[in-house]
Formats: sequence, C-alpha cells, structure tokens
Amino acid sequence: MILFDTHAHLHLPEFDADRAEVLARARTAGVHGFLTVGIDAEDSAKAVALAEAAPDVWAAVGIHPHEAAGADEAALETVRRLALGSARVVAIGETGLDYYRNLSPRSAQLEAFRRQLALARELGRPVVVHCREAHADVLGMLREERVGEVGGIMHCFSGDAAAARSCLDLGLGISLAGPVTYPNARKLPEVVRAVPLEWLLVETDCPFLPPQPYRGKRNEPAWMVHTAGQVAAFKGVSFAELAVRLTENARRLLRLPPAE
Ligand SMILES: [Zn+2]
Ligand SMILES: [Zn+2]
Repeated sequence: MILFDTHAHLHLPEFDADRAEVLARARTAGVHGFLTVGIDAEDSAKAVALAEAAPDVWAAVGIHPHEAAGADEAALETVRRLALGSARVVAIGETGLDYYRNLSPRSAQLEAFRRQLALARELGRPVVVHCREAHADVLGMLREERVGEVGGIMHCFSGDAAAARSCLDLGLGISLAGPVTYPNARKLPEVVRAVPLEWLLVETDCPFLPPQPYRGKRNEPAWMVHTAGQVAAFKGVSFAELAVRLTENARRLLRLPPAE
C-alpha cells in the first residue's frame, strides 16, 4: 500500500520530540510521501530544512491567511528565495482566505493571497490553498490570478459539490482531511462522489484534525489510513485502488518525478 500525505506540518514544534518515530510509523502504515507545508516565512524555512533531510518529504513555502498581517515585502521575498533555493520546494502555500477565524484582517488576507498566486505563476509552481468560510472570494481570486496556469490543491476541502466542481475547472485537486471521517461530515460524502477519482487527494493536516478514532489527540500521518478508508468507502472503490490512484494524483499535481 502506498499513500501520499498531501498536507502535513511535520516541521512544527509539536513533532520535535519524536519526529523520526512519527515518520517511521507513517512509512510502516504505508505512507510513503509527505508534503510539509509552511505557514509563515520563518516556518517555511523549517519546512525546507526537513524536506532537504528526508527523501520522501517535499516542502511548500508560503504565508497562511492567519499570518497574512505579517506578509510584508521582506516576508514575501523570503518565501520567494526559499522557493528558488531548493529543489525540494515543489509548491507555494499554504495561502488562501479564512473568514471563519479572521485572525488577520480580510484586506491583508486578500493581498497576501494575490501576491502568492502571482509568485506561484512567476515560478511555475502549483499552489496549496486554504479556504474556510470564504469559497466565493477564494474562487474569484483564483480565477482573477489565473491559477489554471499552475494548478494546485484545495486542502482540507470543506465546501459543497458545486464549489468542488469550480475548483476542478481551475485545475485544482480536492484534498480530504480528517473531517471526512466525522459523523457530521455533512457535504463531504457528496463531494467525494462528485469529484472524479483522478482529482481526489488525502491529507492529515497534522498535528491538527485527527480522524474520528483519534479526535482530541495530536494527529500524525500513520492515521491517514482512516481518512483514505472513508474516502474509498464513499467512492465505492477498494482501498488498494484508491491508494494507488491518489498517490498518482499527488505526484502529478505536485509535479514530482515518477516513484521508483
Ligand atoms: Zn489550512
Ligand atoms: Zn495546513
């Protein structure tokens, strides 16, 4: 079995005490690829350092909408430099809009999102998009900034089937995280059924959002089998087939070399 965790924060301090064990447990569980995702300029440098040190970990560099108030010229230049400085950086993000928590002013979120989409286009790298309670503005910005030129991933998808179809039209894959396993998953079963198999992905978003059996604990990639198993059940395909297809999708959207 081969799974690819398309959105993790493995470089965060939550894993400092046992990162090697966490990665070893994930590999034993069949997870053989990881995208560790930066949330601000300083944090993105840590993501790159981890990806440089582990052959099955790649990095995304960017500024999360929660941190958008700090996305000044210097921070954006650091992100650009990190992306250019390492072949292990395969995507820009996470970036996007979060109108649920609104930890940065909306104007700052919009500006940081626009700048990072422009950077992704300039560098020819896919984007990792965070969207919470902001689907209309996220989709509008993605269209305006021609995200289709680079494509990418809508991470921890929380919209409905219509929003998912709009993302597909823009060349973005739909990534499901732990919430797809929750009893109140609401629209997500329909989303999984509506999205063609070649556009689905799975992720942990660890250390956040553990799947149902582990709610309340620190999430880790080994537990992603629960998320993938639920997606397979909703999709009506075998776990083995789903795992192979989703890993192919991750490698295609992130433009990784074929697995050996
Ligand atoms: Zn996010
Ligand atoms: Zn994240």
